[in-house]
Amino acid sequence: MAELPGVEREALEVDVVIVGAGPAGLAAAYQLVKLVEAHNASNPGKQIEPLSIAVLEKGKEIGAHGLSGAVMDPRGIAELMPDWLERGFPVEGKVGHDAFWYLLEKKKIAAPILPAPLQNEGNYVVSLAEITRWLGGVIGGMGIDIFPEFAASRVLVEDGRVVGVRTGDKGIDKSGQPKANFEPGVDIRAKITILAEGPRGTLTKQLAGLFDLYAGKNPQVYSVGVKELWQLPDDRFAPGTVVHTMGWPLDANTFGGGFMYGMKDRVVDIGLVVGLDYKNPTIDPHHEFQRYKLHPAVRELLQGGKMIGAGAKAIPEGGYFSMPRMYGDGFMILGDSAGYLNGARLKGIHLAIKSGMLAAETALQAMLKNDFSAAQLQEYNARFESSWAKTELWSQRNFHQAFENGQIAGMLNAGLGMITGGRGYGLSNRLEGHAGHERMERIQRYFSSEHPHPPEKIKFDNSYTFDKVTDVYNGGVLHEENQPAHLLILDTEVCITRCTEEYGNPCFHFCPANVYDPQPTADGRGKVPFLNFTNCYHCKTCDIMDPYQVITWVPPEGGGGPNYKKM
Ligand code: SF4
Repeated sequence: MAELPGVEREALEVDVVIVGAGPAGLAAAYQLVKLVEAHNASNPGKQIEPLSIAVLEKGKEIGAHGLSGAVMDPRGIAELMPDWLERGFPVEGKVGHDAFWYLLEKKKIAAPILPAPLQNEGNYVVSLAEITRWLGGVIGGMGIDIFPEFAASRVLVEDGRVVGVRTGDKGIDKSGQPKANFEPGVDIRAKITILAEGPRGTLTKQLAGLFDLYAGKNPQVYSVGVKELWQLPDDRFAPGTVVHTMGWPLDANTFGGGFMYGMKDRVVDIGLVVGLDYKNPTIDPHHEFQRYKLHPAVRELLQGGKMIGAGAKAIPEGGYFSMPRMYGDGFMILGDSAGYLNGARLKGIHLAIKSGMLAAETALQAMLKNDFSAAQLQEYNARFESSWAKTELWSQRNFHQAFENGQIAGMLNAGLGMITGGRGYGLSNRLEGHAGHERMERIQRYFSSEHPHPPEKIKFDNSYTFDKVTDVYNGGVLHEENQPAHLLILDTEVCITRCTEEYGNPCFHFCPANVYDPQPTADGRGKVPFLNFTNCYHCKTCDIMDPYQVITWVPPEGGGGPNYKKM
């Protein structure tokens, strides 16, 4: 995000600043207030003042950027708030019918028995946008300050410790000059800074670079989920119905699969997850998803329905060994930002909530001791290591890494993992992993005799299949147009020369929102991306999958981005 130099900024002092109002950040805020109340109730002689807690959310409102085709394990919310259902926590349906299909191009094979990680008895279909809106309303009534439309642009670090965050300037024009409505960002100084900003968080990335948080870890690997909401003409897909699929349209070297979740009001949440560690440089996850809907079994389900929403989001898939060091002097990292996701179950909400609870317990102890050092905050990691969240993630610790060798190896490893307590087919406890962009093959090499040419592109029919711009419109994506682009390309010369020749410019394919639009250079040497940044879903695919790692996603002006409703 653009930041004007030499500008005087206000400073706000709080006890705790939380970046991101997803389930992890909201759970942390809620639990911290509850713990202070419980402490004061049981320690009449040792009272602590109510804490000042600020929650920053870059979306227009809480929930606007919450995208998840979610089947929620209720373990996290039930621990946070035992009377969650009585209090009106919004659910779309308790899982009733649960199925797993393997798709061939024209056929489906329904599994007679569901693999254990995909069994959903006792779970709930929910909308992440709705549950975070609801939780935001709850914590808003607890004296916690919530700041929607405030994007944190960077961490404030002094003498090697994190002392807060700076929010982005507002009202800068596309050439970097202040407009009449210019508002400088604010420095929010805090004893503890909690990052819960979702996958591939900008501030988490800054801290990972500054403090080498991935030292000794596997790199984090991601998938992107591209999805739509459809309203069906009848009750053919009841709320709480869950179908997961593998196979077509993804090839045997590409991790991923599809999902369909039944919601209230005859809505089905349908999407395709594509591993962002694919080999084929021309893969276009949005296009694969459009093909997915043309499979006879899927098309039959959607027949007569209407697409009413769309979006995309990255998912951290690396598992236990890809979690960074989650604490340091003055900070803790939670939820998707720290990789709290069980890839085998495709579930993370319960783990995100648990991470928020663990961070809140740690924060309370730090406040009582007035010690915010790494030595004190490492308690967050110790609490995680002795929690059920660790047990769950440990049991799937090598799930994703085996898919580097293809779907068959991945499924074999997943099966062996169930027998070996998560070790899988490796001889040691840990399978090594690689950053996803490193697996992408050069275009000449990929399209050899084994893969003679990319699959034929379908023509969008505006009935079952839609182009990217139509989906962006249905995701409610809006940004102020007169601001600097929030995709920073370090070196566009690489795009024109090396990337065109070596990879065929994958950004023209992988972005689900058509942000990277190929335009001829003025001197006719090649093509360079023109950035339609106002289309951006904030899915981070470009930051993750660019083969040269020259693209950096930074938050645009607060309030911009999608406006997900029931996603
Ligand atoms: Fe996702 Fe990047 Fe495209 Fe935005 S520009 S939608 S973050 S791939």
